[in-house]
Amino acid sequence: MNYKKYAIVDLHLHLDGSLSAKSIIEVAKKENIKLPSFNEEELNRHLMVPDNCGSLNEYLERFSLPNLVLQTKEGLELCTLDLLERLKNDGLKYVEIRMAPQLSTAKGLTQEEVVETLIKTCKIAEKSGIFSNLILCMMRGKDNLKLNLETISIAKKFLGNGVVAMDLAGAEALFPNEMFDEEFKLINKLGIPLTIHAGEAAGASSVKSALKYGAVRIGHGIHSIEDDNVIKELAKRGVTLEVCPKSNLDTKTISKYEDLPLKEFIKKGVKISINTDDMTVSNTTLKQEYETLVKLGFSEENLREFALNSIKSSFASDKIKRYLLELIK
Ligand SMILES: [Zn+2]
Repeated sequence: MNYKKYAIVDLHLHLDGSLSAKSIIEVAKKENIKLPSFNEEELNRHLMVPDNCGSLNEYLERFSLPNLVLQTKEGLELCTLDLLERLKNDGLKYVEIRMAPQLSTAKGLTQEEVVETLIKTCKIAEKSGIFSNLILCMMRGKDNLKLNLETISIAKKFLGNGVVAMDLAGAEALFPNEMFDEEFKLINKLGIPLTIHAGEAAGASSVKSALKYGAVRIGHGIHSIEDDNVIKELAKRGVTLEVCPKSNLDTKTISKYEDLPLKEFIKKGVKISINTDDMTVSNTTLKQEYETLVKLGFSEENLREFALNSIKSSFASDKIKRYLLELIK
């Protein structure tokens, strides 16, 4: 089966979790940043999670290192171009890169400058044949309101011009959706499309609240399977789950691939898309994710459906959607 032809759209990919060791080393040398190693192979051991990663919280610890090189315009541009180049070479045609601008301000950049730099970089890469848009993440945390509100205002400013949606990322089990009530209300008021990480570390109730807050896609959503009412609601609203199999395995959302409830979701009418989450942390690519599903016994028809869901539920323009649909005909 030619599963590779379906691995062309990634809707759930974090910039900081997907940097190559090569680009991190290059920026670190230019900016005199200390790294545990300047050897790609050795550095990868610090970037990728081990097979015995215990939880989402342990997984999230892998992000402090890549964020060191995302603090200047040059670093942001170099790492993002490198990422888009790798994606293009791997056959991707469209990607929604998500990142939290508030995590790139340690050296004085404003959130707005971070986003402007990334938009320009995505435009540069477009010329080489890969389309991309940004999803701006707010962060879960105790005192993030001010920074999150700033992210919202920037998302509004660039909406439709490189930014297509917002997300809430971070430690889901420690900081539940309800703590971000004010942010979600504002996002809805401003008409910014929303996807929320839910049902990953926390249970089906977090998906329920994400739906209440107007999420049109759900990051992961695996634990929705525990509540029939949540499943019905997902199906009724046509909400697509951004499923990331390898990441789910790494964060112990599932203990083995066979536990992914995708067949049940399909049976109950829930839309599934397949994504990578963090290519470097999870040492994966979109092709590998599709290959995993082939090994699990999913048919070509299933894979086509996943790819169709990715395209249709993407925040891309109609023109790009038509182009992508042509490719998997
Ligand atoms: Zn994610």
